[in-house]
Amino acid sequence: MAPDHLPNWHDDAVSPAAPFGTEGKLRLLAVHAHPDDEASKGAATAAKYVSEGVEVLVVTATGGERGDILNPGFQVPLGYEFETLEGKRAVRRLEMQASVAALGVQHHWLGFNDSGFPEGEPPPPLPTDSFAATPAELAAAPLVEAVRRFRPHVMVTYDPSGGYPHPDHVYTHVVSAIAWEAAGNAERYRVAGGAPAWAPLKLYYNHGFSLARLQAIHNAIEATGQESPFGDWVKERAARDSAERTVTTRIDVAAFFPAWDASLRAHASQVDPDGFFFAVPRDIEARVWPWDEYELAASRVPVPELGGMSTAELGQVAWPVGQFETDLFAGITPV
Ligand SMILES: [Zn+2]
Repeated sequence: MAPDHLPNWHDDAVSPAAPFGTEGKLRLLAVHAHPDDEASKGAATAAKYVSEGVEVLVVTATGGERGDILNPGFQVPLGYEFETLEGKRAVRRLEMQASVAALGVQHHWLGFNDSGFPEGEPPPPLPTDSFAATPAELAAAPLVEAVRRFRPHVMVTYDPSGGYPHPDHVYTHVVSAIAWEAAGNAERYRVAGGAPAWAPLKLYYNHGFSLARLQAIHNAIEATGQESPFGDWVKERAARDSAERTVTTRIDVAAFFPAWDASLRAHASQVDPDGFFFAVPRDIEARVWPWDEYELAASRVPVPELGGMSTAELGQVAWPVGQFETDLFAGITPV
């Protein structure tokens, strides 16, 4: 439920409110910027937890209305068009339905307009009707309400860089950080008819392509005598001055690669079935890198690897190098 004065809110009639979580079950909330991000980041993790009886809710901040067609073989479905913001939104909702079905997750739209990727030097200003142009405290309101309704034990979002510099990805981090902090505080975001306060217990950042993962896959492909698609990327990343982010958690998800692939293919306007996301043979990946990787950003429950400490504030987790959790719910009992 959004406050009446929330700007840039297109049509919450299509997705009126986030679902309520079920008492006694473990619950995972994954916050994403666009339809297709749930497919490229943590999809196999979502499918794995669903298979174990965990309730998984994917929340998508925007409708992806300012995305381009990224699959040269894409055919606009009969009766649809991909020229207007409304047309793109409708197509991408259709694709999202198929992705949600492939993963078995629940889904909720936050209802914002895509901000688009600003191109040019200097970059153009953000469209005034967009997610990333919405004041942060307001933009977080629908997510706070979704957290209070679904009551996740674990929240997953992007790191402060957004993972890549799309304004909606950076802003997804911003609103997630506000929701992590505010959803459990009944004094904040007091909305008539709103759900009671709920504080998630652990917050993670997605790590799609760590250098260690790129390197391992690159080496394995070269060892088969094939050409690796990651050669230049590995070199560029290895030469970067900035430190790689810390991976704290590795989830073995190889058994759920088929669900991951189906979720990617569902986004037919965005994902080329012969393109980047399918460049690595999954059997090689299953052998050398069966994990989705995460960074524990904050926890309100004691974490064994931190000596039983908890640290609810972002930026305060000092993780012991070389140790990995294997379960996002470690330390959590369902309530
Ligand atoms: Zn995106």
